[in-house]
Amino acid sequence: MKKFNKVLIANRGEIAIRIIRACQELGIQTVAIYAQEDKMSLFRSKADEAYLITGTTGPVEAYLNMDKIISLAKKKEVDAIHPGYGFLSENPEFARRCEEEGIAFIGPTHTMMEQMGDKIQSKIVAKSVNVPTIPGVEKPITSDREAAEFAKVAGYPIMLKAAAGGGGRGMRIVRDEKDLLKEYHSAMSEATKAFGDGTIFVEKYLEEPKHIEVQILGDAYGNVVHLFERDCSIQRRHQKIIEFTPSLSISEEQRQAICADALKLAKAVNYRNAGTIEFLVDKKGDHYFIEMNPRIQVEHTVTELVTGIDLVQSQIMIAEGYPLDSDEINIKSQEGVRSRGYAIQCRVTTEDPKNHFMPDTGRLDVYRTASGAGIRLDTGNGFTGGEITPYYDSLLMKSTSYSRTFEDTRRKALRALKEMQIEGVQTNKDFLINVLEHDMFKSGNCDTKFIDDHPELFN
Ligand code: ADP
Repeated sequence: MKKFNKVLIANRGEIAIRIIRACQELGIQTVAIYAQEDKMSLFRSKADEAYLITGTTGPVEAYLNMDKIISLAKKKEVDAIHPGYGFLSENPEFARRCEEEGIAFIGPTHTMMEQMGDKIQSKIVAKSVNVPTIPGVEKPITSDREAAEFAKVAGYPIMLKAAAGGGGRGMRIVRDEKDLLKEYHSAMSEATKAFGDGTIFVEKYLEEPKHIEVQILGDAYGNVVHLFERDCSIQRRHQKIIEFTPSLSISEEQRQAICADALKLAKAVNYRNAGTIEFLVDKKGDHYFIEMNPRIQVEHTVTELVTGIDLVQSQIMIAEGYPLDSDEINIKSQEGVRSRGYAIQCRVTTEDPKNHFMPDTGRLDVYRTASGAGIRLDTGNGFTGGEITPYYDSLLMKSTSYSRTFEDTRRKALRALKEMQIEGVQTNKDFLINVLEHDMFKSGNCDTKFIDDHPELFN
């Protein structure tokens, strides 16, 4: 066990601030890196030290340049690097290089990442331990004909998916053979553009499933616990926008079965650090593993509120070498992990829902947030005068509410959104309000097609 003195955060925006806060509470010095385009960003000034990454080819490259990041980490004598989400967080090569340089990577080992980072590979691991997966072909397909062969047996609709996929990209639903060739090429080119990897596989498309995922924490000694599930079914274009816990659309037996399968999978790869195991639940109530995310997720806030466990601090202490049941991490057993009450996270983005969620940019002329009991806000550049640039993700703020019942939590979430005043840049605030006020949402029973099926949400 080695307490860290200094941690470098290889990320930006709200998650960089989230990690800086966790470090500060643990008495750890923080080093931020930033691109020229982030010169005015808030996270930069929240860190103890911040360094401009120069000589890169664009705003995103600064956060992806392994050589520059590792050499800075060595120069500034940091003990560890936290990758946040996105950027280098799922890059096994980066994890390996950190390990080689003697810098702790706050995440799983590179071999675990290789095993679970790819969607095809992780399905094979799931099958090997009898965790149910969606029927499909667990190897890359090299032509649309292979998908057609699969559809002949399994029937349409089918889903073409990028093995390296993320953020809902590189995914196509095919309902008819005549569309197959076109969709195959478009999935492949989208995946190549987004991930530099056009590997595509095929599986059955599930109609109107729920997206249920399980938060996992594992230490370096083989101990793994789950921190219950999150319902992330409210999505647009296969991207989450509202997440909550506990799920209202599964029974207690289903919850236990899903969490048990998540643990089984995490144990199969001896998983270390924080991770999320994602499942789809079909209309019959059967669950199927879809992918594992070996990193902290945007929606980790809801789990923190109901369990009282600080996930980012836990990540850091696991990387320091503490076992889960140490006094520092203080997760003595699975039974000791309790979920109390409800939490709902709304992703406030700088997008125009009425214009295909087109990102907007500019200066935040007015930015007045909500506060009060049961409201947690996480933001990157949310302040009056804050500049929203076109270079990065459009997430402006995460508003997470917490209360005893789902209905109380929903009302709190609604109140918080209505209390916010944001001018100068278009946001999806009114759209989120419409979702929270919808009867389907009130029932807590929305599936992943909810937004597509309810055009009135856009009014
Ligand atoms: P990403 O890594 O891009 O987030 P995921 O594999 O996690 O992709 O899937 C994202 C979303 O896409 C799921 O929550 C679900 O809504 C939809 N999806 C993925 N696979 C299927 C499938 N086989 N059938 C129906 N929907 C799916």
